[in-house]
Amino acid sequence: MPRFEYLEPHTLRQAVSMLQQHGSHARIVAGSTDFLVRWRTGVWKPQYVVNLQHVPGLDRLSYSPRNGLRLGALVRVRALETSPVVRQRYPALAAAAASFAGVQVRNLATVGGNVCNASPAGDTLPSLLAFDAQCRIVGPQGERWLPLEQFFLGPGRTALQPAEILAELRLPPPLPNTGSLYIKHSPRGAMDISYVGVASVVSLQDRGRVCRDAKIALGAVAPTPIRAASAEAMLRGQTITPELLKRVAAEAQRLARPIDDVRATGAYRKDIVAVLTQRTLERAIEMARGAEMPFEVQRRLAVQAAF
Ligand SMILES: Cc1cc2nc3c(=O)[nH]c(=O)nc-3n(C[C@H](O)[C@H](O)[C@H](O)COP(=O)(O)OP(=O)(O)OC[C@H]3O[C@@H](n4cnc5c(N)ncnc54)[C@H](O)[C@@H]3O)c2cc1C
Repeated sequence: MPRFEYLEPHTLRQAVSMLQQHGSHARIVAGSTDFLVRWRTGVWKPQYVVNLQHVPGLDRLSYSPRNGLRLGALVRVRALETSPVVRQRYPALAAAAASFAGVQVRNLATVGGNVCNASPAGDTLPSLLAFDAQCRIVGPQGERWLPLEQFFLGPGRTALQPAEILAELRLPPPLPNTGSLYIKHSPRGAMDISYVGVASVVSLQDRGRVCRDAKIALGAVAPTPIRAASAEAMLRGQTITPELLKRVAAEAQRLARPIDDVRATGAYRKDIVAVLTQRTLERAIEMARGAEMPFEVQRRLAVQAAF
């Protein structure tokens, strides 16, 4: 197997300067779950590996009603799944984490690694997009903020410039009377990557009859995870009816641009987008209206192996 020199920065500044020094010969790792697969198969052959694990504070998860959720890039997927505040206020994100691989991988995999790996099928990505996540990026020029929606440029390609590191994600506090859910379709359950993943976040007003705001994000149906903006717009300010939800789901299906691959045809994926959009919206609306949805129920709903 290709050899590399292992580097262990203790601050983000040190990590940035290591990346500057070694340029394209260096690669950052966090949980290494994507890295190890590609290194072993010789796809990635870095001469230097910069491990972020010893930078203090990068694994911090905190919430305040004013600022919302702050997730350090090294927050584990398992921490998203088990955090009471994520389960309560950002259920689509907790459900996405619960739909993600097996518990051993969830214990290693980080949210920052999932984002920077930029797979169109990354399971946390639709929920993060639907909650309007912002990225704090640290690099040679200091710090900058970027909406997550602008972070993904294509499969495996991100807006990170040379020597830049994703330090943190921030999700604004949800509006009152908000519900959300993520559903992943994967015939092998959580143990396979998603064939289609949909996250919906709905906020209600007028005693639960009218949609105040809606966010819908789709995974594995385009070169990057995408927001279904025109489908969202059809819901905002409207009285919710079953017919409207059907039309919104059809619009999300129209926006999907999936390819045919070994897992599924594009046509099949498009059909699944409509089904999952409608189901996530219906469940999110129930939750926004105050229906109790224990996490074990959400976990079961989050992975749909068959239709
Ligand atoms: C058996 C198995 C099952 C899996 N199942 C799923 C699944 O169900 N759903 C799913 O979405 N994914 C799955 N994955 C993929 C993987 O676990 C996730 O993408 C994971 O979140 C990656 O996080 P990590 O910390 O391990 O990243 P790493 O492997 O450490 O890094 C991944 C990439 O991101 C870069 N990177 C990491 N952190 C940063 C940072 N802070 N700033 C800049 N760049 C950074 C690295 O350089 C690398 O290019 C699976 C992987 C395996 C091996």
